[in-house]
Amino acid sequence: MIMSNLELYIHIPFCEKKCKYCDFVSFRADFSVVDKYIYKLLEEIEAKKYLANDYQISSIYIGGGTPSFIEPKHIAFIMESVKSNYNVLEDAEISIEVNPNSVNEDKICTYFNSGINRLSIGLQSTNDDELKILGRVHNYSDFLNAYNIAIHAGFKNINVDLINGIPSQTPESFKKSLKQVLMLNIKHISIYNLIIEDNTPFKSMLENNEIQLPLENDLLMMDKITKELADYYRLNRYEISNYAKEGFECRHNLGYWSDVPYIGFGLNSSSYFANTRYKNKAILNDYMSLNYRNYMISTNQNDFYDEVTHIDITNHINEYVMLGFRKIKGINTRDFYNTFNKDFEELFKTALSKYQNMGLVSKESDNYFLTDAGLDVSNSILSDLLLK
Ligand code: SF4
Repeated sequence: MIMSNLELYIHIPFCEKKCKYCDFVSFRADFSVVDKYIYKLLEEIEAKKYLANDYQISSIYIGGGTPSFIEPKHIAFIMESVKSNYNVLEDAEISIEVNPNSVNEDKICTYFNSGINRLSIGLQSTNDDELKILGRVHNYSDFLNAYNIAIHAGFKNINVDLINGIPSQTPESFKKSLKQVLMLNIKHISIYNLIIEDNTPFKSMLENNEIQLPLENDLLMMDKITKELADYYRLNRYEISNYAKEGFECRHNLGYWSDVPYIGFGLNSSSYFANTRYKNKAILNDYMSLNYRNYMISTNQNDFYDEVTHIDITNHINEYVMLGFRKIKGINTRDFYNTFNKDFEELFKTALSKYQNMGLVSKESDNYFLTDAGLDVSNSILSDLLLK
């Protein structure tokens, strides 16, 4: 029997200190709270294993928060539990997010020995002043130290996260950050534009003129620098914010953008399974009070979640198109037909020909994708492609 792929996401919500731009569900907690949380997480992982009976696990992502903030034995417990309860493919991509100052040799070796084969390091900038502005707890030399330990431990697949649009950042300082990272022969980088979210210190600092964001022209210049340097160091842009050397594209994220189902474990995590989206409890006490031993036999499993949303075919197509066009390769018309039994070109005939004529959408073999100019205005194109 050919099994379908399924991805797992495991959320560790703890951080040493809150960054000034962060609106994720993440916070500092005592070690006793962390212990109890991990225990609950292991209960959840075991309770949901029956959902995955007919699936093979193609990727696992341990994210946060800061997974490297907690003791390494906790990560080893999680890995043991996943491997003994789920059918994890031998070559599954298994990633963990780490912060440069919260890893050491012991932690990184434990990750490696427990089967984790990809590290994602949250660097954000190599400029210590910019890191301070962001409220990060590490500096550039912490990153170099973490990176060297990781290479030494045997990690071959390492991602580095960078941010552009940091207050006071200039195209020159961004270029320096990017170049310093690429010179390490890094295999994958993610570059996110800073977004000022409500209820963050940055929001009020911006309103009080305490920080100044780079101007639009500077941001465009940073995009141009990214394209040039990624080309020079032979990293392919394969998604709006992601660049990789050939063969190092993040399989887990590609799964998200390609309609692969996933189960999320832990506080506030999301699942997408059997045409339904699930949102786990977002308040720690609510999550901790769940009894996952009753999950399988529960007559109302919805009580275990904050939100459960069934996705009808219109919503499914809309999500497929929105996520599919994030990929540089775009949407494959045969995959679309196999998923929906509908002709992609027929369904979006008017919008596709309009944007093809404007040079914003292009077609190569069976794939429709946004051109460079199209990626710059992707939001307006995608809103035009939504089915009502
Ligand atoms: S490390 Fe990440 S999750 Fe934690 S506060 Fe900073 S941005 Fe948020």
